[in-house]
Amino acid sequence: MAAQIDQTESIDNITMKECYENYILIDVGANLTNKKYSRDLDSVILRAKDSGVQKIMVTGTSLKASKEALRLTRIYPNTLYSTAGIHPHDAKSYTDESWEELQRLAENIECVAIGECGLDYNRNFSEPEDQRMVFKKHIKLAIELKKPLFVHERDAHEDLLQILDEFKGKLPPILVHCFTGSFEHALAYLDKGFYIGLTGYLCKDKSDTGVRKLLENGSMPLDRLVVETDAPFMYPNTRASKLPTHVKDGLTERSMMFLHRYCTFQRNEPCSLPAIVEMIAAFMKKKPEEVALATSFNAMKLFGLS
Ligand SMILES: [Zn+2]
Repeated sequence: MAAQIDQTESIDNITMKECYENYILIDVGANLTNKKYSRDLDSVILRAKDSGVQKIMVTGTSLKASKEALRLTRIYPNTLYSTAGIHPHDAKSYTDESWEELQRLAENIECVAIGECGLDYNRNFSEPEDQRMVFKKHIKLAIELKKPLFVHERDAHEDLLQILDEFKGKLPPILVHCFTGSFEHALAYLDKGFYIGLTGYLCKDKSDTGVRKLLENGSMPLDRLVVETDAPFMYPNTRASKLPTHVKDGLTERSMMFLHRYCTFQRNEPCSLPAIVEMIAAFMKKKPEEVALATSFNAMKLFGLS
């Protein structure tokens, strides 16, 4: 009898311990429509949940991906949410017909943001002129539907701000997702009231003038930060990157287990998010629990997640 009681107690303890150890996180950007997940999406989502990622926003980067993202929200209700947009790389694929269809997708309640949209002058897969035209379409749609904008920007900071300024006073909340720019650019976005999305890029950026500086010198307000994996991209390579000792020390065994067992450079997964949050927290000299709580709260508020 006594043994039985002991056993019940220890199970309770384990459950409590797990609750305590696990963060509650929201991945605001994962490309789960990527064909790299076509064989085992169920396991990917289960693992994400085990790691503490309770909700994931599936990024719509084209008409096709936006349609597929919405379909996934119906299979995993209250776990997955979608966005609808055309990535600046794909701006050249814009047609009036496809835009009509995208607008209809965007009206669904599971679609919580307009984008991914914006400007990418880094590779110019689409002509800058086309990118600007398609970006403006997204801004107008977000204003009309009163949904936040999910923005991508690479080497196009000035133009992006200039275009957004044309809509001053009418703009919905804006997330600059997967921020990879300079410290000064981040400050300019924050000054406009925008949110900043951080990813495993934190490992890649070795400059003294970028994301790390933003976190280290206390310029990143916790109430404007959200976290994302951008999976299958942006693998946080904690081994190869020269992370400061205190940041390395901030990584827990548990988050490293998910990162090293399931994520690779070829295919990152949402379950790498706890490791990213621990690094952000260490750079900010805050507790990971505090960063987890704040970023989840921000995501819920910004995107109206239930
Ligand atoms: Zn992007």
